Amino acid sequence: MRPLTLVVDLAQANRPVSASKPARPNLSGLTRKALVEALVAADIVRPDKAKMRATQLWRWIHHYGVTDFDAMTDVAKETRPLLAAHFDLARPEVIERQVSNDGTRKWLIRMAPGIEVETVYIPDVGRSGALCVSSQVGCTLNCTFCHTGTQALVRNLTAAEIVAQVQIARDELGEWPSPKADRRLSNIVFMGMGEPLYNLDNVADAIDIISDNEGIAISRRRITVSTSGVVPELPALGHRTQAMLAISLHATNDALRDVLVPLNKKYPIADLMAGIRGYPGLSNARRVTFEYVMLKGVNDSPAEALALVRLLKGIPSKINLIPFNPWPGSPYVCSDWPTIEAFAAVLNRAGYASPIRTPRGRDILAACGQLKSESEKLRASARRALDRAATEDVPAS
Ligand code: SAH
Ligand code: SF4
Repeated sequence: MRPLTLVVDLAQANRPVSASKPARPNLSGLTRKALVEALVAADIVRPDKAKMRATQLWRWIHHYGVTDFDAMTDVAKETRPLLAAHFDLARPEVIERQVSNDGTRKWLIRMAPGIEVETVYIPDVGRSGALCVSSQVGCTLNCTFCHTGTQALVRNLTAAEIVAQVQIARDELGEWPSPKADRRLSNIVFMGMGEPLYNLDNVADAIDIISDNEGIAISRRRITVSTSGVVPELPALGHRTQAMLAISLHATNDALRDVLVPLNKKYPIADLMAGIRGYPGLSNARRVTFEYVMLKGVNDSPAEALALVRLLKGIPSKINLIPFNPWPGSPYVCSDWPTIEAFAAVLNRAGYASPIRTPRGRDILAACGQLKSESEKLRASARRALDRAATEDVPAS
């Protein structure tokens, strides 16, 4: 998966916090339990009726995908304005849409003033199509091959903002009410921007919401969370979400992984492997996916392919070789195709089927590269503006 883009809107980044009015909580980001509590706290329903009312709302929001309380025809007419006064249902704005000639779609979504992320839908991946969602804006980790890693963390996305990425994809694919069969969107991968295990509470709430059978109903077995290896959070991820696990491995020895994924200095490969072996629910039917980005002359030799096979021995696993996507100023280039095939052949012989991830949406990814360089410029100037604001003692959002 290609790392996704952050755009900081300069005008908004320099705006004082006090200028924005307090937001009404968006109901799309509340778990069922939190929804019940919110309705009672707002004094909209009696506690003894709260669970039933919450179920009613839940179906409108997550099964029918409505964004307007007035569409909730079985909710009393006088209750609807009350709900609208306390809560929000609106989607964040889609500010750009791109469709590749292979069917891959990319949306640039404005979550809040100055905060924009990309979400990508890839058809014919997983059962019928996968959505790649972001969990943070930027990332605190600095993997040297990753464009997101060059961007400072702006903030964690809320559960509502994570769920909104799925809702928008459903809006755009015409998948409301939530279809039980013949879906175009069947899988979710947390492989967009950010490290999901540094935002586990919101990611776990979003997974509870997305997987609920009376709503979007994407099974937890079709939801994959990718991590660069935040070992202490692995048990919590497994227990709280029962999601499928993907590990961004990229190297088979600590010396190289320390460089590619600097988090490795904190949680070296041996600790990571021990954490993975203990991942709740791991079995041949629920394998962990190892992601391995192919970097020319860095990690792509047949000897490293063999080392990978040895390292994964005994772990129910799949391997995804990811051809490196270059970005402006990136210090690596993608391995040659014959080298990737030779690497894959070693894995094939060891029993790993079709490990190469075919690059998708190349034509719009090219446009994405341009967008990124534009964001880089914006970021640099936004940072200068923020620095100025800090010295002038103006709070910046
Ligand atoms: N932070 C999480 C999830 C987001 S990154 C993680 O690191 O796993 C999603 C995937 O994209 C990861 O496997 C990451 O290693 C990969 N990736 C990052 N930059 C890339 C690039 N330039 N080319 C190809 N894959 C890349
Ligand atoms: Fe990129 Fe590394 Fe952050 Fe993942 S953890 S988004 S690969 S910098």
